[in-house]
Amino acid sequence: MKAVLDHIGIAVRDVAAALAFYRDALGLDIEAPEEVVSQHVRAHFIPAGQSSLELLEATAPDSPIAKFVEKRGPGLHHITLRVDDINAALAQLKARGAKLIDERPRRGAEGALVAFVHPSSTHGVLVELKQVAAVVAQDFSPAHVAQAPSLVAQDFSPARVAQATSLVAQDFSPAHARYTLGDLELISLSDGFFRLDGGAMFGVVPKPLWEKKMPSDERNRVRLAMRPLIVRGMRTMIIDAGLGDKESGKFIDIYGVERARNLDHTLAEAGLAPEDVDIVLATHLHFDHAGGFTTRDSSGRVHPRFPRAQYIVRRGEWDDATHSHERNRASYLVDNYVPLAEAGVLQLVDDDQTIMPGVKVRRTGGHTMHHQMVLIESGGKTAAFVADLMPTTAHVPEAWILGYDLYPMDTLAAKKTFLKDAVEREILVFFEHDPHIAAGYIREQEGKRGVVPALSRH
Ligand SMILES: [Zn+2]
Ligand SMILES: [Zn+2]
Repeated sequence: MKAVLDHIGIAVRDVAAALAFYRDALGLDIEAPEEVVSQHVRAHFIPAGQSSLELLEATAPDSPIAKFVEKRGPGLHHITLRVDDINAALAQLKARGAKLIDERPRRGAEGALVAFVHPSSTHGVLVELKQVAAVVAQDFSPAHVAQAPSLVAQDFSPARVAQATSLVAQDFSPAHARYTLGDLELISLSDGFFRLDGGAMFGVVPKPLWEKKMPSDERNRVRLAMRPLIVRGMRTMIIDAGLGDKESGKFIDIYGVERARNLDHTLAEAGLAPEDVDIVLATHLHFDHAGGFTTRDSSGRVHPRFPRAQYIVRRGEWDDATHSHERNRASYLVDNYVPLAEAGVLQLVDDDQTIMPGVKVRRTGGHTMHHQMVLIESGGKTAAFVADLMPTTAHVPEAWILGYDLYPMDTLAAKKTFLKDAVEREILVFFEHDPHIAAGYIREQEGKRGVVPALSRH
């Protein structure tokens, strides 16, 4: 059995003191905390190279973490080992007489399979085994969700994940994930998370349906990732760049921005620096896609974030973004892109065309008149970065369309065409805003479509 350390869970009594050590004294970055309401636990996730630390804090006296701390004092709560084949691992352990809490794996976050081994067999440590998702059936059709919730195999809401996995199996943060496509390497990065109104994210879909897919917070917002994509071939391209770091405290509060771990971190983890990027390609110029195109220096001046790059924007989108109106103004913030023109690094393209070998853009319209997706082809395989055409895996059903879209019927038409193509040609689809799944394949079974998360290389 080959096992890799995934994360270490630490039960803490005084979270302020723990943060003073891990964040302030050690200087580590800590993610915004995640509340697992059903377990009365708050988890603070600390990326540390290939593995992570997870500080677990009780929020009520009857929390399992409170009981743990009361009985044994603060300290090591569990360790999680990643294995390739969890069933084989469990069989091997069982054959050797290990006491298993779970004889069979259960479903954890991100579609992972998890199982716990009893501390009596592990010399006093609760051990979790985890196998990253390979094939997971998902069904997102509204009728199906309404009639047969038991068929919805995946529910990633923290509460549900915790119930299913005794709170320790959560995977809080997207790291970078690598995929090979023919001669190209695709690296999904993260610029952290933000929150948008759940109603606006699902248009005409009623809340009882969408909240099963995406739980909302007390302000009715749903948590969304920002996942720019690196394409490496002869040249290095980044598609979109997240939110960036120029916004005010008020903006950060309204949009629930969490960027403790951001594009700088995941770019570095992928072994890249901003200077390595040759081409920055925009799907459109909304702030959650173009915010990271520029950065503000200590003198307050805004300049291009990627110093060597040419920035490629569709001309129609540029014209709309620089002539905003009442309906789209909140999404277009000129500091994100006008400085590119001033710096002479802006290149406007007119049509669907090839941007670099294997990479071409295709206008979808719908979300904005000139919103475009990116098709990546190499070695007979195709990947698609669909941006806000289908921002999350919950948006796979045709009618699950953003309320933000300026031309929703155009979105519907573009989605129908793309979905058919994606199923038939087994296109690897990147979901820019999905909080849990960076990329997957759309499969159709008995007329229903679902997403099978793609395995990444780490
Ligand atoms: Zn958008
Ligand atoms: Zn967006």
